Amino acid sequence: MSTSTEETRGYDVIIVGGGPAGLSAALILGRCRRRVLVCDSGRYRNDAAVAMHGFLSRDGIAPPELRRLGREQLEPYGVEIRDVAVADVRRDAKRFEVTLEGGERLRSRKLLLATGLVDRLPDLPGLPAMYGTSVHHCPYCDGWEARDQPIGVYGQGCTGVALALNMKTWSDDVILFTDGPSSLSRADAARLARHGIGVREERIARLEGRDGVLERIVLEDGSAVERRSLFLKTKQEQGSELARKLRCKVTEERGVETAARHEETTCEGVFVAGDASKDVLLAIMAAAEGADAAFGVNCALQEEDLL
Ligand SMILES: Cc1cc2nc3c(=O)[nH]c(=O)nc-3n(C[C@H](O)[C@H](O)[C@H](O)COP(=O)(O)OP(=O)(O)OC[C@H]3O[C@@H](n4cnc5c(N)ncnc54)[C@H](O)[C@@H]3O)c2cc1C
Repeated sequence: MSTSTEETRGYDVIIVGGGPAGLSAALILGRCRRRVLVCDSGRYRNDAAVAMHGFLSRDGIAPPELRRLGREQLEPYGVEIRDVAVADVRRDAKRFEVTLEGGERLRSRKLLLATGLVDRLPDLPGLPAMYGTSVHHCPYCDGWEARDQPIGVYGQGCTGVALALNMKTWSDDVILFTDGPSSLSRADAARLARHGIGVREERIARLEGRDGVLERIVLEDGSAVERRSLFLKTKQEQGSELARKLRCKVTEERGVETAARHEETTCEGVFVAGDASKDVLLAIMAAAEGADAAFGVNCALQEEDLL
């Protein structure tokens, strides 16, 4: 097929996002001989992490290395990758028009959003230097490394209680820090006590440690509690506004919602994969959802072309 015809036709699919979800989708779609473009703005959710755990055959790999391998394995399939942000997206009856940062406009038949989430961390002095090293949000990702050590949990209300109980799977020594009056119900307070979980209600002054490793949590009254790690639940926002621009249904609880099989959203022709649609927020799940969405995209294209 001539280049000019291809330019008129545009891409079969533009994938926005080059994390595990986007790269996994690109691999399947490349192997389906689709004309695929991956746009990657280079802002990955796990930027702060030194190692990624729980990914079969890649346990403990550095996140950039997983992405490097992912990109390398796309090469035989002619998948195009551009390190650029997608600034805007619009659709007409048949096509999507994607505007890249810088103004270039591209067209595609389908769109796959693998744009992830952004975590908002609590404003605790000392925390940023330890995030990803000894301050974590996910026990499944980092609980093993904190096993049998003194663990702190930061959280309020039932969220804090649930996370503190959760951490008992990894250590007997768990203390819940509520950073202010806990307002725990009697039942919750009794449940924590029954499982040997202490509660500290004083406000936190700062986290202290060395080389990213937490040593103690200093409270505003000057007392300090020795801890080796702190687990907390982050507030999460969508990694991009593209789904909302396209009027896909997006909720705080479920992220970009899927409305049909194989990760198609409420907006026909727009698929979503990975953390952007909130399920179990693990990299291997993101990769699996990428493969599922790729299957959906290819089936939709086949239906248009062949049926
Ligand atoms: C500190 C930390 C540690 C973690 N550790 C683990 C672990 O050990 N094991 C594990 O399984 N999971 C871990 N996770 C979770 C894991 O990082 C995510 O589940 C996974 O990265 C989700 O993949 P994704 O492809 O959906 O999103 P991401 O990896 O976040 O990728 C999002 C992609 O979208 C791109 N993007 C966003 N908007 C645009 C735009 N407008 N234009 C172009 N590109 C755009 C970004 O640049 C990026 O390429 C951790 C998370 C954090 C925060």
